[in-house]
Amino acid sequence: MASVSPTSALKSTVAMVSSINVKVMVRRCSRCTCNELASITLTYQYSRALVWIDDLTAERDPHAYDLCDRHGVRITAPSGWRLEDRRNRFRVVMPNRLAG
Ligand SMILES: [Zn+2]
Repeated sequence: MASVSPTSALKSTVAMVSSINVKVMVRRCSRCTCNELASITLTYQYSRALVWIDDLTAERDPHAYDLCDRHGVRITAPSGWRLEDRRNRFRVVMPNRLAG
């Protein structure tokens, strides 16, 4: 039975971890002249004349618009449309806090 020294085990672990390809997706504001980081996602449904603002979604949706803070606060709905801000609306409830 071969023994592995702690040092070689550590080296192989470091080599394994450093070889993992970590993809960090940085999403930018959709406004063409803006290069700020996106913080909100805007979607709309034309048939319902409804615009939604959400926290930045986990994945980019080709039908949605990611916007930075500066452009996010400027959003207004077109005349006859309704703007629904759903940011911070859905909070995660920790299951262990439900039981008394
Ligand atoms: Zn922007």
